[in-house]
Amino acid sequence: MSKFFSKKHGGLVAYTPGEQPKDRGYVKLNTNESPFPPSPFVSAAVQAGANGLNLYCDPENTRVNTAIANYYGVQKNQVITGNGSDEILNYAVCAFCDDTSPLVFADITYGFYPVFAKINAVPTKIIPLKEDFSIDVEAFCAEQGTVVIANPNAPTGICLSLETIEKIVAAHKNSVVIIDEAYVDFGGESAVKLVEKYENLLVVQTFSKSRSLAGGRLGFGIANEKIIADLNTVKYSLNPYNVNTLTQLAGEASMQDKGYFEKNVATVIANREYTVAKLEEMGFEVLPSKANFVFARKSGLDGGEWYVRLKEKGVLVRHFTSERIKDFNRVTIGTKEQMDAFLKATKEILQGE
Ligand SMILES: *Cc1c(COP(=O)(O)O)cnc(C)c1O
Repeated sequence: MSKFFSKKHGGLVAYTPGEQPKDRGYVKLNTNESPFPPSPFVSAAVQAGANGLNLYCDPENTRVNTAIANYYGVQKNQVITGNGSDEILNYAVCAFCDDTSPLVFADITYGFYPVFAKINAVPTKIIPLKEDFSIDVEAFCAEQGTVVIANPNAPTGICLSLETIEKIVAAHKNSVVIIDEAYVDFGGESAVKLVEKYENLLVVQTFSKSRSLAGGRLGFGIANEKIIADLNTVKYSLNPYNVNTLTQLAGEASMQDKGYFEKNVATVIANREYTVAKLEEMGFEVLPSKANFVFARKSGLDGGEWYVRLKEKGVLVRHFTSERIKDFNRVTIGTKEQMDAFLKATKEILQGE
C-alpha cells in the first residue's frame, strides 16, 4: 500500500477472483464459466459492430435492454444492464444501503457481498446458514435491512423455492430485497415474475454462466421502474457508458438465440446429474445443486489436499479456506469429457496415486 491510499479504504480486503492460469492447459472447473462458446449469433453481431467503435456506445443500452425486456415480458424501464452483474450489485448496495439499512447476507455466500458493503462504507448483518447449509429463512425474514440472497446460493448450489423467496420479500416492505440469480437457469425458478407485485424486489442475473459471455462482462437487473431509476442515478454518477458497444450487441444476439441457450443449459444439467451420481458412488457428500457447479466433500479427505492434488493432475477446482467449508471443493460442471477427467483424477487421489 502506498502512503497515499485513502484512510477511508485502509481496511479494504478486496475480492479474490478464481485463478485464470496461463502456465498450462488445465481442465478448468474453478470459476463456473460455460464450457461452450457463445452462440454463433454473437460472433456475427460483434464482427458487424466493430466498425462503429469510433463512436461512444449507447449510454441507455437500448438494444440489449429491449431484448432482455422482451425475453422476460417486462417493460424496458424495468431493466438495467451493467458491466457484469457485479456492477449492478455494487450500484444496488450504493443506492439502497446506509446506517439504517445494513446489507444483510449469509455467512456462506458470494464473497463479493462484504466487499461491496465495505467500499460503500455501509454496515453488514451476517446470518449463518443452517446446519445443512441451507438459508435460514426465518432469520432473514426477521432481520431488517437490505437483503441480498444468491438463489441458487454459491458455493453451495442450494436453491430456495419461489414461495420462500416471496415470503422473504414480503417480510421487508420497507427495504430492498436483492435476489442474485447468477445460476437460476440451471434449475431454479426466477423471481422476475414477482417484480410486478413487489416494489422492493430487485432481481439480478448475469450472462457469464448460462449464456457463455463471462469475458464479455454483462449482467442485468429487473425491478420496479423506480428501483431501476435509482440504479440509473448511481450509474450516471459513476460510469454512463458502462457496457461497451460490442458487449451490448453480443447480449442482444445471445438473447435472440434461445434454442442454443436451452440446449447448453440442458447439457450442463445432465452432466451435473452424472457427476453427482459418480461422486456419490465414490462416497462423497454432495449438496443438492441447482447450479452449474457442485459442492462436495468426503470424510477422511482434506479439502485443501484434494484441491492441491487435483491441480497437480491438471484439474482446477475452487477451494475456500473459511472454517465451515474448508473440506469442500466447488467443482464447475463442464463437458462430459472434462467431468470424466475430474472424476478420474479424484479416483486416483482416493487410491493414493
Ligand atoms: C458469477 C457470479 C456473479 C457475477 O458475475 P458477473 O460475471 O459479474 O456477471 C454474481 N453473483 C454470483 C453469486 C456469482 O456467482
